[in-house]
Amino acid sequence: MPSLIFRKGLDLKDAVAGELAAAYHSHIVDAVRSDGYARTSGRLTIHLAKEFGFCYGVDRAVDYAYQTRKKFPDKRVFLTGEIIHNPHVNDQLRAQGIRLLTDPGEDAGTLGADDVVILPAFGVSIGELERLTSTGCTLVDTTCGSVLNVWKNVVRYAQDGFTSIIHGKVKHEETRATASQALKYPNGRYLIVLDHEEAAIVCSYIRSGGDRDAFLARFAGTSSPGFDPDRDLERIGCANQTTMLMTESLAIGEMFRDAMRERYGEAGLSTHFRAFDTICSATQERQDAVIALLAEQPLDLMLVVGGYNSSNTCNLACICAEKVRTYHIAQPECLISAEQVRYRPVSVPCSAGGIQEIAQGWLPASGPIAVGLTAGASTPNNIVGEVIRKLETFCGGV
Ligand code: SF4
Repeated sequence: MPSLIFRKGLDLKDAVAGELAAAYHSHIVDAVRSDGYARTSGRLTIHLAKEFGFCYGVDRAVDYAYQTRKKFPDKRVFLTGEIIHNPHVNDQLRAQGIRLLTDPGEDAGTLGADDVVILPAFGVSIGELERLTSTGCTLVDTTCGSVLNVWKNVVRYAQDGFTSIIHGKVKHEETRATASQALKYPNGRYLIVLDHEEAAIVCSYIRSGGDRDAFLARFAGTSSPGFDPDRDLERIGCANQTTMLMTESLAIGEMFRDAMRERYGEAGLSTHFRAFDTICSATQERQDAVIALLAEQPLDLMLVVGGYNSSNTCNLACICAEKVRTYHIAQPECLISAEQVRYRPVSVPCSAGGIQEIAQGWLPASGPIAVGLTAGASTPNNIVGEVIRKLETFCGGV
């Protein structure tokens, strides 16, 4: 029997609204917002970025997960993995009895028609979707509309014979899912580039060719099966993981445009190159807001709150670290004391088991302190509120 797929919720929004508010709302955050995004308490002043925390896609995914639990109280309900990259939210869902197929002891091979599986906000690959539908289970698809928009463009590239150049992280679920969309058509191809350095290697090959074997070795695992740089870089279309650093994605797009213009001339550009900006508006707004905060406020330090495997949170931390001492913390417990904070250094790649360090003397021992605060798109307000509360305790404000 084919899987039943829910894509627009389960008509239980009102029924779960109270539970969601109880789990993720914060009165402190509401108060800081209504006080102009600043709060002074004793010698501490907290400046909150004007856009932070849960984005529309995450809000919807978490809402659908709670609706799913309510709709199917007697069924086994699974997530394919983390619904979003936030440990607190995933634990809250586990507490609701929603199981993660990636947790130890879980086995996707046991799924059957009586089970319900929730797909995460960043989507799943075509292969994974096929495996799930073959079990006949009920699916609740929370894939964000902004991710679907990227897929639509990548599919169009494939349809028109363009290779998708995806600026993203190859291990990130969203990038893997996006890459799989490029293979919907028989001649579909993709190449994933992580950063400026990898883009420069590809651009150099476009301009003047090079060592084919070295190229393939460098991009093994990040390109489509049978990728041939001499054939597959002739017509390219740029896309990106929705949560990358906007400035870097735009710069990489321009690098490819310049390389293709040099290779095929201005007249040939439109038949060899396509691009569209696929950074989602929520990511862009959070990055813009933190840039504005850093420009407007003299700060002693910046706290960035969110999962260590959250791409958009890691990028917020990178932006901040260029301007001010920055600590990326996963949860309020990372604020150990007024003397110690546990954090992910921005130089450590974004990943679930990210290396953490402990900084000593992170808060000035005396005098006024100005702390900037933001949170990634998968961080709920109750976590931000708890961080504010702890900071105030450390600084003697409450
Ligand atoms: S970060 Fe953007 S693409 Fe990802 S879930 Fe949020 S709104 Fe959607």
